[in-house]
Amino acid sequence: MPAFVIQLHDARRLHYDVRLEVDGVLKSWAVPRGPSLDPVVKRLAVPTDDHAMEYAQYEGVHAGARYGSGAVIIWDAGVYQNQTRDKARKLVDPADAIDRGHFRFALQGVKLSGSWAFTRTGRDGDWLLVKVRDEAADPLLDVTVAEPRSIVSGLTIEELAATAD
Ligand code: MN
Repeated sequence: MPAFVIQLHDARRLHYDVRLEVDGVLKSWAVPRGPSLDPVVKRLAVPTDDHAMEYAQYEGVHAGARYGSGAVIIWDAGVYQNQTRDKARKLVDPADAIDRGHFRFALQGVKLSGSWAFTRTGRDGDWLLVKVRDEAADPLLDVTVAEPRSIVSGLTIEELAATAD
């Protein structure tokens, strides 16, 4: 199954970079408030540049390099299954799903699981990330607050940033 990673990135503004492997690259969206387990909550997701697959392993502090400055922790990672279907219930290829503006997938991560969807909205090119209603949904748990640490190092982003000072 293809990989996904969510990196918490302390750039000019703290955000979560949600990246999914599609055709050998990491398709990426910056989600300022991070994922919500509440299916009624729509989180703004701004498309960003594709990243190389190797970047899924990146955790550290970079200084104004290619991928922007600031500390990065691997907040969650794992694999996903494409669940995007057309009106005839036929599975849509992930690259086509993204072109068409709706991409549904099931995550198998450390923190996140169940079905999620990215949907493009309006003319400004912004997307929304929404938890699909299923057994992994939880309107009462703020997962970004409950589980702030890296799944790799166990550090918070503040602790990681302090190691570079
Ligand atoms: Mn970023």
